[in-house]
Amino acid sequence: MTVKREALPNALYVHIPFCARKCNYCDFNSSVSETKIIDRYLDALEKELRALQWQYTFKTVYIGGGTPSILTETQLEKLLHSVVRYIPCFEIQEYTVEVNPGTLTGNKVTLLKEYFVNRISLGVQSFQDSQLKLLGRIHSGNDARNAFALLRKNGFKNINIDFIFGCPEQSLSSWEKDLRILVELNPEHISTYALTYEDGTSLTADLKNEVIYRLDESAELEMYKTAIRYLTSNGYNHYEISNFAKDGYECSHNYVYWKNLGYVGVGAGAYSFIDGARTSNVRDVFTYIDGITENKNIKTFRECLQQDQFASETMIMSLRLRQGISGADFCKRFGYKIEEQFGDQIEKLIKDGFVSYENERLKLTEKGLFIADTIMMEFV
Ligand code: SF4
Repeated sequence: MTVKREALPNALYVHIPFCARKCNYCDFNSSVSETKIIDRYLDALEKELRALQWQYTFKTVYIGGGTPSILTETQLEKLLHSVVRYIPCFEIQEYTVEVNPGTLTGNKVTLLKEYFVNRISLGVQSFQDSQLKLLGRIHSGNDARNAFALLRKNGFKNINIDFIFGCPEQSLSSWEKDLRILVELNPEHISTYALTYEDGTSLTADLKNEVIYRLDESAELEMYKTAIRYLTSNGYNHYEISNFAKDGYECSHNYVYWKNLGYVGVGAGAYSFIDGARTSNVRDVFTYIDGITENKNIKTFRECLQQDQFASETMIMSLRLRQGISGADFCKRFGYKIEEQFGDQIEKLIKDGFVSYENERLKLTEKGLFIADTIMMEFV
């Protein structure tokens, strides 16, 4: 069965695939590039944005990477100008830009403010310099604190801080120290993920060569539980597996992904999801620039979801949210009850205490939360 017509996307993602240096754990689509390549990339991006003009009304915009703050002030202004020129800003409710404490300057912060950016995602990862060094980050814990203060001084009232736990040699007490500093800074939003070892990264090579040792799973789990306890007792809602927010500061843009709604992505390697069809732009920066400049097709991947596959993905993503998934919303969207496709799995998971129904919503229980990845596999 093909997918029922979905509403037009109202979320835009813009990808900046450049970084000052590759972090040791990173397998994102990002690389170190010369400034003239970045200039050409921004020209191509502008052209791709121009083609979107009048097609959509975006409520959220997210400029991510890579490191958007690596752009020079002139380049950043060009990018921000392209966005406001082609995307009607009066409709945008949440406009996020990712920044790295090592590449932020006062003038860049002023530009972000001038061009209506109202949410900043600051990639901090840790306040401990030894861990930042191990992760290959370009900044210190102090740089992170200074960047946060600079953003506050310039009036940013919605700041996310990205954090990593479960690093080699990290102790529970050092993690608790980081959490205390984090809460003292008082950001509106915190995203915290366990370190993952991706193929092809230098951290994974170090692991294989026994230069570093992986923290054992129980220590990692204890850090996650500590974060939940500490952050929720300090006024943060644990609203998604890895995300915490003060009331009213949940990330609207990411809700689009978690609810499996449509979005448009521009830039090298960016994915779009429109009316049940998922596409991806070519990942290589040079092929992307040439493709856009020469008006060639830059899509390298296209997949049209069947209804049951779409429903399955929606279940997996929505269960990441602590509020879970509404049976009524599912029925309205897919035209049948959740149990018609997933009845057996739900019955088994309820019996084992991993999911439960609360106010007509199916959600992970506390027990289920800690083995979420395994539970999601039931719905594949
Ligand atoms: S700054 Fe972010 S995108 Fe860039 S290399 Fe580090 S983790 Fe990857």
